[in-house]
This record gives sequence, structure tokens and C-alpha cells, in this order.
Amino acid sequence: MNIFQSLINEIDDKIPVIQKNFDNYQNEFFTKKPPEFFCLELNGEAGELANLEKKQWKGREINTEDFADEAADVFIALFNYCNSRNINLADALTKKLQKIEDIRLSRKQEGLDY
Ligand SMILES: [Mg+2]
Repeated sequence: MNIFQSLINEIDDKIPVIQKNFDNYQNEFFTKKPPEFFCLELNGEAGELANLEKKQWKGREINTEDFADEAADVFIALFNYCNSRNINLADALTKKLQKIEDIRLSRKQEGLDY
């Protein structure tokens, strides 16, 4: 099995379980919110991560744990967004990755990088 197929298989196996558990946790312990809220939250968290990268790029010392903390916020917000919008993240990921892989292979045949 090649690396790409292995990745797809792992996504199909694990992401639905993780997504369902995020949904259960959110529904059990947090107030229900619409997808618009989670979309704003996701972009806010991505902005916080980007801001840390900007600060480091400008020369400030940023703790690695701060990047990890914001990356975790992005991950959590993405799962909450997908659940509130009824997006099957595993399906979406595998479809998108297949498109990317098809383009990569096509470009490779032409001797080009992706
Ligand atoms: Mg944050």
C-alpha cells in the first residue's frame, strides 16, 4: 500500500470517530451554537496562530507551546464547525486529498513540482 492510500485509510478509520466524539462532548457540556459562530471562532483562532507567526517573523521570541496551543484551538474549532454544519470531515478530506494527489501525479508526469 502506498503512502497516499495509507493516509486515506487512516482518515477513513479515525476521523469519523474523533469527529463524533467531539460532537458528543460539545452537545453534552456546551451551549449549542450555530455554524456561523464556529466559523468565526475558527477564523479567530487561525488569526491568533497567524499573529504568533507574524510576531516571530518580526523577531520576537515565541514559545513553541504557544504555537501548539493555538493550533489546538484551530483544530477544535474546525471540528465544532464541521459538526454544526453537518460536514463529514473524513469524506471532505479524502475527496480533497484525491484531487490534490491527481494534480500532483499529473504534474509529475510533466516533470513539474506541485
Ligand atoms: Mg486561541
